[in-house]
Amino acid sequence: MLKKLDRIIDSFSMYRLLIYYLAGLLGAAFVLAIFKDISYNPFSILVSSSILVGASYFINKILANFFDAPTGSDSAIITGLILALIISPTLGLYNVMFFISAAGLAMASKYILAVKKKHLFNPAAIAVVLTAFGPKQSASWWVGTGVLLPFVIIGGILLVRKIHRARMVIIYFIVTTISTIFFALISKVSVGTSIYDMIFSSSVFFLGFVMLTEPLTSPTTQKKQSIYAAIVGFLLPPQVHFLNWYTSPEISLVIGNVYSFIVSPKVRILPTLIRKIRTTPDSADFIFEPDKDFNFLPGQYMEWTIPHLNTDSRGNRRYFTLASSPTETNIRIGVKFFNNGSSFKESMLALEGNSMVSAAHLAGDFVMPNNPREKLAFIAGGIGITPYRSMIKYLLDKNQRRDVVLLYSSKHVDDLAYKSIFDKAKKELGIRVFYFLTGRNLKLDQDNFVEGRITPDRIKEHIPDFMERTFYISGTDSMVIDTKENLIKLGIPKNQIKNDYFSGYS
Ligand SMILES: Cc1cc2nc3c(=O)[nH]c(=O)nc-3n(C[C@H](O)[C@H](O)[C@H](O)COP(=O)(O)OP(=O)(O)OC[C@H]3O[C@@H](n4cnc5c(N)ncnc54)[C@H](O)[C@@H]3O)c2cc1C
Repeated sequence: MLKKLDRIIDSFSMYRLLIYYLAGLLGAAFVLAIFKDISYNPFSILVSSSILVGASYFINKILANFFDAPTGSDSAIITGLILALIISPTLGLYNVMFFISAAGLAMASKYILAVKKKHLFNPAAIAVVLTAFGPKQSASWWVGTGVLLPFVIIGGILLVRKIHRARMVIIYFIVTTISTIFFALISKVSVGTSIYDMIFSSSVFFLGFVMLTEPLTSPTTQKKQSIYAAIVGFLLPPQVHFLNWYTSPEISLVIGNVYSFIVSPKVRILPTLIRKIRTTPDSADFIFEPDKDFNFLPGQYMEWTIPHLNTDSRGNRRYFTLASSPTETNIRIGVKFFNNGSSFKESMLALEGNSMVSAAHLAGDFVMPNNPREKLAFIAGGIGITPYRSMIKYLLDKNQRRDVVLLYSSKHVDDLAYKSIFDKAKKELGIRVFYFLTGRNLKLDQDNFVEGRITPDRIKEHIPDFMERTFYISGTDSMVIDTKENLIKLGIPKNQIKNDYFSGYS
């Protein structure tokens, strides 16, 4: 059941899923307004949403042109939809001007309140913070009403499941609840009423599911994400104030964004394609020259944008692991292709030498531990091999010995990417490498070829000291989930298992 659900949500990009979720919330609000379950006019909801989305879209296009920035329209549409759900849908000349200024400020913030081409603040949140100071009009967070709550929660859970950020959102909810109780006690108001208001008539859920999780303005590693979630959650209750200055949901988030900005890598690069190499029958490496030097750890990934015409429902951005090692001059990504693939992949295949794309949001905890003596086991399925290419190439280039076992599963020998690097690491660094081949008519002519899948018995057989190792799993969502279950069945504690979900392959 859950796998079926994952397959459905995986057929959309994160941005598209969010667009459908937000549009669905507005649709639900429209219907509830017809039945007078929401105190706004359904026509006003329709008009205000159209103005906010339209203004965000066009202002973003103009600014992207002006600043010569590659950008997609999905993020502008998302910001417009968020604004439509947090600014009261009341019509009137003054309100329409307010809508347009909020959309304008949100879009401008992405280009102006940015350092090294990376924006600092959640665009919708900073827009309503600024309008509160300027025209003294701000967000009402009308989406935070009891009748919309089930829709907010169901869509929010799907979104968080897709982007694997449940931990961060749970911490935020826990801290918000503790903070609400704490401030209710010190301001001597009823704890029960405060909790009730927090749940049924506040922005808590919408902010947590939709805005807190925005990848570009939240930290990139789990520990920092937890601190960020705790900061925002702590500041959220309406009683929180500094002298006479009270926080609001948007101010809490913007303060969290400042923390995130301070602790996150600020890399945004415009790399130029220099070469494409076919690595297996259905995957290729793209080698780029970065426009500037930047530091990363082997195993990390970036978000890549390729603007293209006729973008399909999956949008124009994707995460790709940096398959190159930081010791290499150029950066490399390894990408899998399908017949009838996405418009993104088609335009990627059509990239010519000297094409420029953009990559930002360097992130990821899927990196080797600081302690070089820690015993490791790397498990890869198909294209999930890319982070290990980065790590093992790094170890080779640095001549660094670590106790590593690599189990790499593919259909046939031809489907094994980077085999020469792993074979070299086996010879020069003593890394133990086993290739698991699941196809038919196999020729098992190498001592480390194993026929079949990576099962618990095979893990025991090839990694006898498995209980002493930290396991890394990288591949499609289903491969990671199945392998993790197998490791847990073997008795390996969860904190000895790290995973990298290559979400997007259904
Ligand atoms: C942290 C992270 C790191 C990643 N690293 C890598 C990496 O190093 N290499 C890599 O290749 N991928 C990586 N991915 C996955 C990558 O981001 C894409 O999600 C994945 O490549 C799928 O790309 P695509 O959406 O363009 O679909 P495609 O690859 O074109 O297709 C994938 C599947 O979706 C179907 N499909 C395609 N288009 C549509 C459509 N419009 N509607 C419905 N179904 C469709 C296809 O038939 C196919 O079954 C990573 C993902 C994450 C989250």
